[in-house]
Amino acid sequence: DVLGGLVGSEMCIRDRAEAAEIMDLDPAVHELLRWPLREFHVTLPVKMDDGTTQVFHGFRVQYNDARGPTKGGLRFHPDETIDTVRALAAWMTWKTAVVDIPLGGGKGGIICNPKEMSMGELERLSRAYIRAIGHYIGEETDVPAPDVYTTPQIMAWMMDEYAAMRGYNVPGMITGKPLPLGGSEGRGDATARGGMYTIREAAKILGIDLANATVAIQGYGNAGQFAHQLVAELFGSKVVAVSDSKGGVYDEHGLDFDKVMEWKQQEGTVATYECCEGTKKVSNEELLELDVDILIPAALENQIGPWNAAKITAKIVAELANGPTTPEADDILHENGVYVIPDFLCNAGGVTVSYFEQVQNAYDFYWEIEEVHEKLDRKMTAAFHAVHDAIQQYKVNTRMGAYIVSVARVAEAMSLRGWV
Ligand code: NAD
Repeated sequence: DVLGGLVGSEMCIRDRAEAAEIMDLDPAVHELLRWPLREFHVTLPVKMDDGTTQVFHGFRVQYNDARGPTKGGLRFHPDETIDTVRALAAWMTWKTAVVDIPLGGGKGGIICNPKEMSMGELERLSRAYIRAIGHYIGEETDVPAPDVYTTPQIMAWMMDEYAAMRGYNVPGMITGKPLPLGGSEGRGDATARGGMYTIREAAKILGIDLANATVAIQGYGNAGQFAHQLVAELFGSKVVAVSDSKGGVYDEHGLDFDKVMEWKQQEGTVATYECCEGTKKVSNEELLELDVDILIPAALENQIGPWNAAKITAKIVAELANGPTTPEADDILHENGVYVIPDFLCNAGGVTVSYFEQVQNAYDFYWEIEEVHEKLDRKMTAAFHAVHDAIQQYKVNTRMGAYIVSVARVAEAMSLRGWV
């Protein structure tokens, strides 16, 4: 995952530079977009259960706030680095811009191994982080959220510590909170659901009948599981293959979501799933090359590269994962007529519902789940078409189309503010 951030940053840099050239951007705008506006490095002494004090290091990067308060997750990871956090903060800037929510991009992290820490130690670390950066974040400046190895419980402790600093409750200073503390309905499946709305729009443009479409999904975590459930529920498409880190399973008759989920919960993997004759094992590599209409990478970065891009026959690649396709593969897929829905558009449903959480916190009134879905649909559909229009106008691949939309929006905000 840390590597994923770095890969992403390289892609961001290459693509942003190319987008700047295509759009004939003012060099000052381009220069400003190369740098984070602010970075915080904090040192956190934490009392451990054995009575010793351990010193942790944390970061928060506020990459660009021209369009609004910076927004982005907070990662707890032993290999965390400022470079990764910075790259991911830049990525959040493009993601919030492409879905046109009034937020900028940020990211944070603490170097730690949460798997080796007790709940008490994690709570003290979370509170120490907020005491260190609490004066520089908030609902009008910078709003963290869960990310790698951080949870709704951690968000709740952080919200509580922040309330102690301010002297009153400020639920909108962080998102991904538990529902009783001001979380939003619909956050759980928001990433996959947002991706579904973009798949629906792409299918309309390409003339694909989703009710008769076949789907393969790589990865069976939060993004992949909900993708399986929703693609069947919303469109009636047939999911013929799914996989996780241990391998995958294929059935031309289609894989039932409830049965596969039950198997995954009992056996810990989908790779050994058996239901009827005709169910076959597939490797993760084979899954990507299956003859399906829609391929959904929902696991890791760097899965589609120059080594396999020419073998991908899907009509749509919907990137729920971050960075699953390398830049070289992007070009090959584009030439072969594969429609890639780029990651920072396809998986922006999560941050969009996080933004809805902030809005609900601000007016202290909470929406029904149907309202969340309807508003998410409108945001994702509008974003998809803005990107599709840019692809037509500039005659570029889909990822470049998305960069052009994002960079133009951030550049416009910086110009209106008089920064450039
Ligand atoms: P997760 O940890 O819940 O699940 C990851 C899944 O990928 C697991 O099923 C794991 O077994 C599988 N996996 C690991 N290695 C694999 C391999 N080599 N081949 C196939 N599968 C493999 O993670 P998630 O939250 O579902 O995130 C998946 C991707 O989606 C990541 O790239 C993440 O950055 C991206 N994403 C997630 C969200 C979200 O809200 N969850 C939002 C934006 C982007």
